[in-house]
Formats: sequence, structure tokens, C-alpha cells
Amino acid sequence: MKYSNFKELRLSLLGFGLMRLPVTPDGEIDSEVTFRMVDYAIEHGINYFDTAYPYHGGLSEVVAGEALRRHPRENWYIANKYPGHQIASEYNPEVIFEDQLRKCGVEWFDFYLMHNIHETCIDIYLDPKWGILEYFLKQKEMGRIRHLGFSAHAELETLKRFLDSPYGEHMEFCQIQLNFLDWSLQRAREKVELLNSRDIPIWVMEPLRGGKLLSIATPEEAFRWVAGIPGVTMILSGMSNEQQMVENIEIFNRITPLSQEECDRLYALAEQMKDSVPCTACNYCTPACPMGLDIPTLIQARNDFAVETTFTPLMRIESLPKEGHPSNCIGCGACSQMCPQGIDIPEVISELNSQLVKAPSWKEICRQREIAARKMREG
Ligand code: SF4
Ligand code: SF4
Repeated sequence: MKYSNFKELRLSLLGFGLMRLPVTPDGEIDSEVTFRMVDYAIEHGINYFDTAYPYHGGLSEVVAGEALRRHPRENWYIANKYPGHQIASEYNPEVIFEDQLRKCGVEWFDFYLMHNIHETCIDIYLDPKWGILEYFLKQKEMGRIRHLGFSAHAELETLKRFLDSPYGEHMEFCQIQLNFLDWSLQRAREKVELLNSRDIPIWVMEPLRGGKLLSIATPEEAFRWVAGIPGVTMILSGMSNEQQMVENIEIFNRITPLSQEECDRLYALAEQMKDSVPCTACNYCTPACPMGLDIPTLIQARNDFAVETTFTPLMRIESLPKEGHPSNCIGCGACSQMCPQGIDIPEVISELNSQLVKAPSWKEICRQREIAARKMREG
């Protein structure tokens, strides 16, 4: 196993993401297989285990705790997250945090993250009335949190806003979606540059983009690409069966970064996969829009749809106010006249509207994810 240094710790470069655990035919977490996977992981050098409040309807924390507590506490680090991204009427960090410690059966979390900083929820995290930062700094002082960080699916500008807020100076690491497709598609390159410029180590989620990249690359190529990015300290994989775990550990025993030539080949394949509308986000068009639409963001959502029909594009649209949704476009074409790229913007927005009409509901997305996870488990 390859390791990376983080402060006083030596972390396995591969971390076990506990969001897609094996399940029984009736949909419960299969504790027996999970225990075996945790045992195998620890025996083969993995020492980082990542759970969160909503994973498996709150049961990932329980099973993770049970599985890990069968091993000496010094052999594993557990990460958990505060669910401020789940829009609720009340946010009481103390109630949630105490519940998380109890469910995991631990006295402290080695790593604790503000979960999923995003356009839809950053104001909750920043609202002093909830006292979120203050509460978790206090827990850190008391030794109940060893390292504090955050995860983000946010746009670059929101990421900057969070880092410039009072949270910034306290964030010791940041978890982002990083893979060779999102390097350009989700401006991951600029996010990496931003985090590097602030000396914030990077934790990687979705290195295979939920398996989507496996149509054009092997897992080893995708992992090797991520391992070569400056600042990457932890690469999480949501392993769902024992075979995946064995294969991933073998890869991380010999992992080396790709050569520039190998990276270029993956970027070329990613370009073909994107089928992108070539918007450069110059914003020349937006002042011309009588409806005040954020046209580059809508085009980005359309480009997201070219590679994924669910989570990312829907979340992007959801982050916009209702009056900014693409259904408000009146097709006047004033925007296209301003576009140096010659993009037929009303046509692109109309295409986006059709994709949104066809897109599944959140409930359906959860069901599809569960089916996909089951297929992966069944090999
Ligand atoms: S076509 Fe749609 S996006 Fe373009 S200016 Fe008109 S309303 Fe705005
Ligand atoms: S003018 Fe064209 S390239 Fe610039 S943001 Fe608008 S659509 Fe994109």
C-alpha cells in the first residue's frame, strides 16, 4: 500500500468509502461481508474509513463502527461528516454530533468534514445563528475531532467564498470530485490550483465518476491519473464487494503517476465523451438576456447531461433560483448575437429543457443507484 503524509499521520493513499456497502437481497447492509472487507482492508494496509450521516439511511455509521471496533483503535482512522447540506428547518450541530459518536461507538472522530459545501447550502454553513463552525472548533479543542475539513461539489466561485469565510483558516483538508473528465468539465483543475495555493491537502471522491469512466479507461489508469495530481493525499473508493477491494489494493500497492503522454490520451478520450457545447463562460451573452438567466451555468448543465443523466446536472439546476431555471427562456435569441463562439444558445437551452423533462426524480435516482450498486456487487 502506498502512503501519504498528513501532519503527524501516515495515511493509506486508498481510503474505503462506506457509502456503497454490500447489501443483502432485502436491501439491508450485509454486515458479514462488510466485516470481512474491513478486516481485509486493515490487514492490507488501508487505515482510512469514510462514512457520513446519510449513507445507507444512517446505518453506514453503525456498521462501520461495529466493524472497526473489532480492531485496535490505533489501526484505523474514521472520518464522518456534518450534514449541513441537507436542507432542514433546524440545524443543531450538538444533537447530530453526539448521535454520530454514539452510532459509531467512538469517543472521537479522526477526521470530520462539513459535508458537501454547495451553492444550495453554503448560506446555512455561514449563518452564525446555527453556530456550526463555533461548535466544531470547540469539539476539536476537546479532542473529539482530530482534524477538521470539508467536502464540496461547489462551483469554483463558491469554493473560494467558503475558503474566504471564517471557515477558511480552520479547514485542514478538502474533499472534491476529481478525475480526468472533471479536470475540465467541472473545472477541477482550477479547484486543485486554488487548494494548492492555500496549502490545503486534497481528498479525492469519485475518481472513477461512479464507474462511468470505465467505458474509456481501466480503474488503474483512472487511479494513476488522480495519484499524479499535486496535493492529492487521499483517494476514496466506495467499494461494494470483496473483489473490487482486492483489485484496488493491488493497484495501490504498485501505483505510480501516468506519463504526460498517457494523460493526454485520457484527456482526448474525455473530450470525445463530453460532446460539449464550447462555451468559454466569457459572459458576453448574459447582460443581453431579458430574463436574467445565468447562461454559462445552463450550458454547463447541458454539458453535464452529455456524460451523466442524474446527480450533477440536476444539482446544478437546483442551485439556481426558480426564476433562473431554463424553462424561463423565451427563445428571443438576443444572447446568441453576443456570443463569440457562435453558439445557438436558445437551441442549447431548449435541449436542456427536454433533458430535464426526461430526467428521473430524486427518488428514481436513489433507486437506480441502488440497482447499479447491486449489479456491481454481483460482479
Ligand atoms: S434566448 Fe433565452 S437565454 Fe437567450 S437571451 Fe433570450 S431568454 Fe435569455
Ligand atoms: S457568450 Fe457564448 S461563450 Fe460566452 S458565456 Fe455566453 S454562451 Fe458562453
